[in-house]
Amino acid sequence: MSNDRSPRRGVLLIVASPSGAGKTSLCRRLMADHAGLELSISMTTRGIRPGEVDGRDYHFVDREAFQRLIDEDAFLEWADVHGNLYGSPRAPIDRALAEGRDVLFDIDWQGAREVARKCPEDAVRVFILPPSLEELKRRLVTRSQDSMDVIERRVTNAKGEIEHADEFDYVFVNDDFDRSYAELAHIYHAERSRRFRNLWVEAYRQALLNEAV
Ligand code: 5GP
Repeated sequence: MSNDRSPRRGVLLIVASPSGAGKTSLCRRLMADHAGLELSISMTTRGIRPGEVDGRDYHFVDREAFQRLIDEDAFLEWADVHGNLYGSPRAPIDRALAEGRDVLFDIDWQGAREVARKCPEDAVRVFILPPSLEELKRRLVTRSQDSMDVIERRVTNAKGEIEHADEFDYVFVNDDFDRSYAELAHIYHAERSRRFRNLWVEAYRQALLNEAV
């Protein structure tokens, strides 16, 4: 029997949460553990933070360039988040899917809604809740990437984000990194194993049925 596990239909795994809920660390770990998963690197008009790398964390562009890409329909989705524009470039996503890989999105509820609207079969939406808003604020302060007034705004915005958690397929609280990571990985593994994604299964099944025993 063949070992070839292709063709398959990729998962669009969307992970959303208020900033500071630990989403980025969970996504990084998921990427590190799964070679077949590709991170969608967003474009943004927000300024680069200390420690961030252009092309790794985001593609940092000005509003003019971002608007040009909107006009060219180059985004699978884009949204205004906290006053800055963010978007998921379409080309790398299409390429990954065509090559049988899955794509991971670290985007907000608006982007999640849009990807699910455009790709209802393939979008899998996961929302990560913080243990409390107090804890969220503490994490943002410890991270110390933002000024205090930006942190206050992010905590206020967190409620707006959490309001939309009921649109998601999966929701869990990140109060323990390892447990949350296991939860995220289980969701991904289960979704990846769904029969309709594994188009090779049908030929394999037929071969089993035709096997002479
Ligand atoms: P931050 O500025 O803290 O990196 O991100 C702010 C918010 O924007 C986060 O909730 C993040 O998930 C979201 N975000 C990042 N990239 C995208 C994107 O391409 N599209 C959308 N809709 N949201 C994004």
